[in-house]
Amino acid sequence: MARYTGASCKLCRREGRKLFLKGERCLSDKCAVVRRSTVPGQHGMGRKNVKEYGLQLREKQTARRYYGVQEKQFKGYYVKADKQEGVAGENLLSLLERRFDNVVYRMGLASSRKEARQFVRHGHFTLNGKKANIPSIIVKVGDVVALKEDSRSLEKFKGLLETADTVIKPKWLDVDDECLTAKVVANPQRDDVDFPFEEQLIIELYSK
Ligand code: SF4
Repeated sequence: MARYTGASCKLCRREGRKLFLKGERCLSDKCAVVRRSTVPGQHGMGRKNVKEYGLQLREKQTARRYYGVQEKQFKGYYVKADKQEGVAGENLLSLLERRFDNVVYRMGLASSRKEARQFVRHGHFTLNGKKANIPSIIVKVGDVVALKEDSRSLEKFKGLLETADTVIKPKWLDVDDECLTAKVVANPQRDDVDFPFEEQLIIELYSK
């Protein structure tokens, strides 16, 4: 399936909540969810009666869009999470949190996950000292992510570097704002995910 290239704000309006896909704008009163809370499309005003399947589907779409993952890959995460020990829903969120692009975003070195994905693809980050340009890499405990030396002076990182130390970092990442590196010191736990997902709905959807 091709990657969605339409308006990000439409995705938030479709889910009826902020998915924080556009950086600064999401925190301003220009946010489309704040300005127009209806679902996009001709019948947007009339879709209120959501059944069980609808709720599960919406939760899955919300998580997929929040992390910027395509359907096939998302299903793959579910299969993996279900095979792991522990609670499948929590395993799923842990996998999503440990995506390479999400780590870059959580370091405060991108204004959105979409931007983080682009930075990774353009080769601005290393993983354990080696070039890594695949946003979907799942990092593990002990891995070190770093902004490449020669990318630090680029204009696009200037503003981000000034504010990176003001971003609240998750406790599973040991971020060095001076050296612009982050070491994975633990697996993300449920309370490290700063979005109110109802992940059991996603598991119920896939386990049918
Ligand atoms: Fe979503 Fe951000 Fe657009 Fe608001 S501004 S609708 S949070 S992408």
